[in-house]
Amino acid sequence: MKKEFERFDMTLPPVRTKWYLMPLMLMLSLPDVIKHRNILHREGTKDLKAPFVLLCNHNAFMDFKVATKAIFPMRANYVVAIDGFIGREKLLRNVGGICKRKFTSDPTLVRHLTRTIKNGDIAVIYPEARYSLCGTTAILPDSLGKLCKLLRVPVVVLICHGHHINSPYWNLHDRGVKPTEAEYKLLFTKEELAETSVDEVNRKIVEAFQYDDYAWQMEKGIKVTYKKRAEGLHKVLYQCASCKAEHKMTTKGKILSCGACGKEWEMTELGQLRALDGKTEFSHIPDWYEWERANVRREVEEGTYSSGELPVRVDTLPNAEKFIHLGEGTMVHNMNGFTVRGTDTEGDSFEMIKNVPSLYSCHIEYDYLGKYGDCVDLNTLKDTWYIYPDPERCDFSVTKMALATEELYAAHRRKRQNGPLQSNPGL
Ligand SMILES: [Zn+2]
Repeated sequence: MKKEFERFDMTLPPVRTKWYLMPLMLMLSLPDVIKHRNILHREGTKDLKAPFVLLCNHNAFMDFKVATKAIFPMRANYVVAIDGFIGREKLLRNVGGICKRKFTSDPTLVRHLTRTIKNGDIAVIYPEARYSLCGTTAILPDSLGKLCKLLRVPVVVLICHGHHINSPYWNLHDRGVKPTEAEYKLLFTKEELAETSVDEVNRKIVEAFQYDDYAWQMEKGIKVTYKKRAEGLHKVLYQCASCKAEHKMTTKGKILSCGACGKEWEMTELGQLRALDGKTEFSHIPDWYEWERANVRREVEEGTYSSGELPVRVDTLPNAEKFIHLGEGTMVHNMNGFTVRGTDTEGDSFEMIKNVPSLYSCHIEYDYLGKYGDCVDLNTLKDTWYIYPDPERCDFSVTKMALATEELYAAHRRKRQNGPLQSNPGL
């Protein structure tokens, strides 16, 4: 018998935030917003009334708190990934959470957001759909412009600066960065939106979403004195900029080093990298990351990209209760996309194939919950799999897999450029 689980009910309509929870949400948000002395710049949003769509960038949990401050006392529904619901479904529904499985194209979500707008509330979307890995913009889905046009209400952006510097995805320790900043800006009025083409809406959203937390840190001269500030950075910078070896980078304290050639870099208080000996290849962390991307792109263009066959542990999240161990198996990520196969704890086989056109990006986790290490998160409309390659038995980088997912999709799009473009899956 195949394992059957009770599934999360995606069809339940969004809940209007209970009035008595609203001051509570503000009270829970404000201490952090005050502690980091967040400065909110309003542009065209001072007298704006719901309903509207609010698009936010995503670097840390603080983003939610700043959003709460920006829109209070208006009500909102928030699109939240299912892993954010674990063990607190009731609470999340009551504060307005709408559940979504990451990087899936879900028509139910559009229905829920339409309901939010009809209720006269704010539809809050984090369109990058995952935390930024190095404080720069992640890929945005093409479906966004179409969604905004469909909802026929003003489009507003909330771009936070400093949240990655304060608590980077690869090492969440709160570095006490202050002040942080946020731009809360009207991008389209209802009338402007009606007169603008989908492509132009997308273009303006992408333009508004350009941000770079490390450049912001330099510009503001904000110092991070945390002694372990570089620890975890090797998860993102997995390839040595000097000898080009992969999976040999490590970090300790403020030092990033390569186990293959021995080169070392210091992460300065201003978030820059500086080689301890010889040339500094990249002082700006996002430049190093984009260099890695270019190398992955080359492998994709040459048709040689492959993670190899990785032994993996697969956990599944059919509902918001808790992860369930599905079984052991293998994962390959190559020119065909992801293939995960294995045997569950009852001896039945399982499989998930995510081909290249079905995935424009993917969510990864670094040392998720401190349990089984780094993982890749793959979803269908009914299921969420957290797939952990075994670090004892193989070399891998989930960052490289995420970059490769985006580059494979981009190459696929370029190939199809002369043919009809399919709409970007997922939101
Ligand atoms: Zn090296």
